[in-house]
Amino acid sequence: MASSPSGSLVSADVRRHNLALVAHRLAQRGPQSRSQLADGTGLARGSVTALVAALVEAGIVRETEEPEAAPRGTASRGRPLTLLRLAADDVALLVLQLDADQATAVLTAVDGRALFRTSEHHGRPMGDPARVLDVLARVLARTLDAAAGLGRRVVDLTVVVFAPIGGTPPVVVADTDFEWGVVDVLAGLRQRVGELPPATLASDGTVAALAELAELEAAGAGVRDLVYAKSNSGIGGAIVADGALVAGAHGFAGAFGHIAVDPQGARCLCGQRGCLVTVAGPDVVLAEAGLAAEVAERGLTDALRELVARIQAGEARASAAWEAALPWIAHALRIVTMTVDPEVVVLDGYWADLAESIAGAFALDGPAIAATATPIAVVPGRLGEDAALLGAARVARDALLYDPLALVTIGAPFPTI
Ligand SMILES: [Zn+2]
Repeated sequence: MASSPSGSLVSADVRRHNLALVAHRLAQRGPQSRSQLADGTGLARGSVTALVAALVEAGIVRETEEPEAAPRGTASRGRPLTLLRLAADDVALLVLQLDADQATAVLTAVDGRALFRTSEHHGRPMGDPARVLDVLARVLARTLDAAAGLGRRVVDLTVVVFAPIGGTPPVVVADTDFEWGVVDVLAGLRQRVGELPPATLASDGTVAALAELAELEAAGAGVRDLVYAKSNSGIGGAIVADGALVAGAHGFAGAFGHIAVDPQGARCLCGQRGCLVTVAGPDVVLAEAGLAAEVAERGLTDALRELVARIQAGEARASAAWEAALPWIAHALRIVTMTVDPEVVVLDGYWADLAESIAGAFALDGPAIAATATPIAVVPGRLGEDAALLGAARVARDALLYDPLALVTIGAPFPTI
């Protein structure tokens, strides 16, 4: 057996790992006592006490005294119970989201509490990234000001786009909502705002899928293999295999809108022919349903709400548009599910409201194996319109808490002597 590396390095790694265990437990479960933390993490009580002391000293965790529930039939309030909660009151996480209607920013504390939220409509100027980035930069600058006003350093910026991303550094590859080809969103923001906090670009499908997976877990459904598909801005999604997100070699995994379903179809912005988004994308369905003017006047979100209402009411033109799109959607889902074999398909965006009809179309002509195995469940998402925002905040927080003590130094000014 090879000699182990220096003992102090190994123990530093173990300590960081254990600090992360404690911090993640507090993030997932909320305030906990030391003995609850020991039970929940499997660490010895003495270790938890030492780890908590380090986190409290760094300001990452704070003690709160909560009165224990009084025993029944007694007037006494019982002795106070010391609980620990995530604090890190001088830092914040910023999620900036760009969808087909607006730019939205949410500032959250490390424990997940929302501190500030703002949004601005951009009017969807097609094929004009600069005008959209101007709006996105304004919303970001406002939120950075708000963080400063709250006395908090922004330790993480996640920019969520409703489009596939790829490359190093990551860029938007094709955003059909805006008729964009390749756009470097982070560079565009740097040009306008100046230096950014540590920043990541994320596709909405990937972060929303992780949030929906966490919701299923919290509801007691132990799902490990999931396909997440959504349509509001375009069509997107993500694949979770054995509990982990599939990123793919180029970051395109789960870009279901660009599955080429019709070899004779129209050229897509991504360069392929007959992508799902060109035959069943929201703009296509809305136009067929006679709601194109609605999109221009009230924005995509409201137009999709109207579309769903008309389909559910059985209005002829909307129903016909949906019936024309359904077989393509089912066809794409059949390709995806046969490829990755998930337990469940979670549908979000306006598809969540129409999940039953998509499940019906998906079940038609299913493979014979479905009769002998547990069928793949096709269900609506639980988080609604904020799935990507909530997911991005959660992913960023979990990543930061892998090295909780580092929160003290990220973006902090150099100490003055
Ligand atoms: Zn395409």
